[in-house]
Amino acid sequence: MDKQQQSQKTQLYPARNGDPYLKPPRNGVALCPECGVIYQQGRWAWQDAAPSAAQSVVCPACQRIADDQPAGTLQLSGNFLGEHRDEILNLIHNTEQSEKAQHALERLLRISEQDDGMQATTTGLHLANRIGHALGAAYKGRIEYSYSEDEHHVDIHWHRD
Ligand SMILES: [Zn+2]
Repeated sequence: MDKQQQSQKTQLYPARNGDPYLKPPRNGVALCPECGVIYQQGRWAWQDAAPSAAQSVVCPACQRIADDQPAGTLQLSGNFLGEHRDEILNLIHNTEQSEKAQHALERLLRISEQDDGMQATTTGLHLANRIGHALGAAYKGRIEYSYSEDEHHVDIHWHRD
């Protein structure tokens, strides 16, 4: 394949491996004005202080929160949920705390109470998966994972009667 064909191919499939929320800032060092996470050496991470050359760039997690564009959606339902709502909320928040400490872009986006259950959305696939596994490990129930075709979004349904 020559160069021209290659660039055409890239244009035809721009979404492949190209999560728009994970574009690195042009300059090598950045600081998110919303949450204080720092971009350096190719990744966003919590650090004590920003290098002086840091540019102000909203991080992918804060951008997703601002746009209300989750990477993961968990739908919880069933009678068990009504009886253990506080416990389950604690489990979700604790999972976020430990995940976010290690992976700065993995955060809860929103938790909404619904008539027939609860919905939790996340800024990262990994956190959604961790919460799904934590629910299954703690409470059993039935759980289904379904990924979007480009694998940039996961829908997780958890149910226990
Ligand atoms: Zn941020």
